[in-house]
Amino acid sequence: MSNLKFEPGQEKSPVTAWDKLNGTQYDDVFKFNAGYIDFLNAGKTEREAVAAAIEAAEKNGFVNITGCSGLKAGDQVYAVNRNKELVLAIIGSKPFTDGLNIVGAHIDSPRLDLKPQPFYEDGLLSLAKTHYYGGIKKYQWVAMPLALHGVAVKEDGSIIKIAIGEKPGDPVFTVTDLLPHLAKDQMDKKLSEGVAGEALNILVGGVPVKNREIKDRFKKSTLDYLNREMGLTEEDFISAEIEAVPAWPASDTGFDRGLVAGYGQDDRVCAYAALQALLDTEKPAHTSVVLLTDKEEVGSMGNTGMQSTFFENFVAGIIAMGTGNYRDLMVRTTLANSRGLSADVNAALDPNYEGVMDKLNAARLGCGVVLTKYTGSRGKSGSSEASAEFVAAVRKIFNGNNVVWQTGELGKVDQGGGGTIAYLLANYDMDIVDCGVALLGMHSPFEVASKVDVYMAYRAYHSFMKNA
Ligand code: MN
Ligand code: MN
Repeated sequence: MSNLKFEPGQEKSPVTAWDKLNGTQYDDVFKFNAGYIDFLNAGKTEREAVAAAIEAAEKNGFVNITGCSGLKAGDQVYAVNRNKELVLAIIGSKPFTDGLNIVGAHIDSPRLDLKPQPFYEDGLLSLAKTHYYGGIKKYQWVAMPLALHGVAVKEDGSIIKIAIGEKPGDPVFTVTDLLPHLAKDQMDKKLSEGVAGEALNILVGGVPVKNREIKDRFKKSTLDYLNREMGLTEEDFISAEIEAVPAWPASDTGFDRGLVAGYGQDDRVCAYAALQALLDTEKPAHTSVVLLTDKEEVGSMGNTGMQSTFFENFVAGIIAMGTGNYRDLMVRTTLANSRGLSADVNAALDPNYEGVMDKLNAARLGCGVVLTKYTGSRGKSGSSEASAEFVAAVRKIFNGNNVVWQTGELGKVDQGGGGTIAYLLANYDMDIVDCGVALLGMHSPFEVASKVDVYMAYRAYHSFMKNA
């Protein structure tokens, strides 16, 4: 069956992925998404997503590569980078230099990070300053419940984990917004300026310590709490990564429960689908690799982002352990002969904002996993365009394995655009194409996906790792 949504002379309603499911697949879709929702709720930060992925992988027989001395076909290993990035692999029966089959997703999501010195008081309230991370619409992050997740590391190296605002009975936090009665000046501003970055200050307390001789007794009250309950000092927050994320859980959405809404689906939706696809891959010919990288939302910088040599070092490591005959050229050949899916989300056509899309080339919710030949913006600038030959090869794999897919382009030509990790993997000279789930409200605190698309992403990644 063709995957064109609009065929010449077509009179009927477009075919969706739902229409192409058989009876048992229908149940599979809902079962798969129940696991996905659990993953979203267990992993609201990159560190938590890494921990959840390791737990699932170890249950399926994966071991940390640091404990391995040699590798052979069928071995299942993972390597973790600073608790924020994860690479998992199943060693294939073919030589490494025949190339790896890679599915690469990211597990960082837009949010509000606490500043190194967050705590202060103002207006007889205790507050915490933030610096937002990634591309957010700042007005979306006010007047909603926030949870604080992360770690603070003491001078002795001990790690204090923080997760407040998730369990029933937990307090939550919030950034207040101005009442409409007094918002005349604010409402006259451009939407991008209505809420300033420096105004994203989180309300963290309202009860002062009793001693009125103390100058900042609201802030003191907060610091006393943190010290009493968690053993933390103000200086400990300088060596900390605390993220304010939406406190609500991801959940079934719509009367028919056919949608998932929740925070962090960009890109944990592709991360989960890729992880499950790898866990269900048995004895691959080519070594199968799933990459769960960090820092994509800020340009893949730093030692846990895709620009780091961590992944390359991992490939060198498995070649050394798997062959006992390491040469630098083998790493380069392996990477250049690899094939990849850059597993990241795309934008779905939003019925409320149709004008920003070219309808013919826009992805739709419920029409399957999205194959995106190029990203970039305004003249394909910054895009890593997949070659026609490779897109054809991927298309053949999907069509041969009953993967329902569609094409997508990120909005109208001059409207905007975006990028993924595809170009960084392409720099190794490998073939790679973007392939992921379409979302509504991408980067918002409550993104929406269609369950059938999530399931088709899993099927796409699974068939790719088996057949590419
Ligand atoms: Mn993304
Ligand atoms: Mn993003």
